Amino acid sequence: MRLRVDMTACEGRGLCAELLPEVIALDDWGFPIITGEVPAYLEDEACQAVRLCPRLALRLEQGQAGRASHPSAVRGRDKVPANQDAGSRIPHRP
Ligand code: SF4
Repeated sequence: MRLRVDMTACEGRGLCAELLPEVIALDDWGFPIITGEVPAYLEDEACQAVRLCPRLALRLEQGQAGRASHPSAVRGRDKVPANQDAGSRIPHRP
């Protein structure tokens, strides 16, 4: 399983990183960085982190780990619309 963070909802502060430091680090501003897949032995802790996120910004899924920096990416619709070139997209954080 993998964690995803909805960066449009996340307010930082890092409760999730305190609960699951094995797969969530914090950037310099206190926002979460998913560092890898959730190993099977940490799935219960990952579910707890999802439940306790005060902004409902965390979720577990089978897809690729990382941040979802745009609402369309959160919903899995991160294709560039025909009338929008890639240069005008909201930049992704590393
Ligand atoms: S617990 Fe939720 S709101 Fe807080 S840093 Fe983690 S994802 Fe963001």
